[in-house]
Amino acid sequence: MATIELRQVEKRFGNHQAVKPLDLTINDGEFVVLLGPSGCGKTTTLRMISGLETVTGGSIYLGGRNVTWLHPSERDIAFVFQLFALYPHLTVRQNITFPLQAQGESQETIERRLAEVVRLLRIEHILDSRPGKLSGGDRQRVALARALVRRPAAFLMDEPLGALDAEFRESMRAEIKQLHIDQNATTVYVTHDQVEAMAMGDRIVVMSNAEIQQVGTPAEVYHDPANLFVAQFIGSPGMNLVKGHYIGGQVIMPGDNNRYNVPTDWVPALNRATGGDGDVIVGFRPEAAVAASDGELLGQVYATDMHGAYTVLHVNMNHDDIVHVRSNRRTTYPIGTPVRFNLNPQMVRFFDPVTGQAIRREVVQ
Ligand code: ATP
Repeated sequence: MATIELRQVEKRFGNHQAVKPLDLTINDGEFVVLLGPSGCGKTTTLRMISGLETVTGGSIYLGGRNVTWLHPSERDIAFVFQLFALYPHLTVRQNITFPLQAQGESQETIERRLAEVVRLLRIEHILDSRPGKLSGGDRQRVALARALVRRPAAFLMDEPLGALDAEFRESMRAEIKQLHIDQNATTVYVTHDQVEAMAMGDRIVVMSNAEIQQVGTPAEVYHDPANLFVAQFIGSPGMNLVKGHYIGGQVIMPGDNNRYNVPTDWVPALNRATGGDGDVIVGFRPEAAVAASDGELLGQVYATDMHGAYTVLHVNMNHDDIVHVRSNRRTTYPIGTPVRFNLNPQMVRFFDPVTGQAIRREVVQ
């Protein structure tokens, strides 16, 4: 297996910059998810790693070897697409063994590897069927088997679960993750679904506008988003982002006398970022805002979403400033009820409203 390293890799289609120069190292055995909205450049990045797309600039290394200008077949990488790309006229068995036949492997090796992947993916019962007769989940298992049987240095997967319905998608997600744990193969996985990315990735590369916004573990991108884009894109709903004015250890927030006392460990960073008197954006996840009768902040209930274990209140702090607040499932809040809430001091974050970047407590050297 292998490390994948992108150094200043970029792609232009004519005048259109599909991927701006990016640096990324994917460690041996790591499962990395490229996540971002449609058109942000994630598929193009994956295709450049595979060799299906040439780079406009930069270099790609696989296991320390410069593969930038090698043909896809010379890169020792397997690609799994959303559209299962199986040969319709071949049986499952023939589809899976095809890459090994093409490589000229011996019949004994082919049989041994076939048996291994068939056991791993539990597809014994469909070996003699043709792809047209299979369910979406089974077709995707066959596509995975065909990739696995080659034992490549790395796997690239482009929205492999995109064509499946929600129920299959969840179980396949767990299966792919389990396969990864079994095989420990370096994997790069593209999706626009942040739930999938959070569930599967060892690390997530969040992309937007043809560039990387943040690289981090699921917990890092969720709790410490690098900027406003990541804060909103990760989470359902995303992070609450409320404009305020920082002065004297407090943020004056929208609404009626909503003065938020900043946790003391944030005061030096906010003084530094605002010069002691300036605008900030306060960020907090719905679960960091907790309804309480003596809460520091006040708003009015605008709508409620029942989630079973808890209720999410849509709280109007002032006109357009509606935030999501988590409340006890047993308390009911008619629309228009005033509601007070506190912010968990460990979970509050701040952003620069001009650059959109997170304000960090530690000084970055
Ligand atoms: P999606 O999830 O919709 O596939 P993506 O993040 O994977 O989105 P890419 O497919 O990488 O995005 O596309 C990035 C940008 O490059 C888009 O603006 C797209 O229109 C453009 N693009 C991709 N392939 C080509 C091509 N062959 N010729 C011209 N433009 C292209």
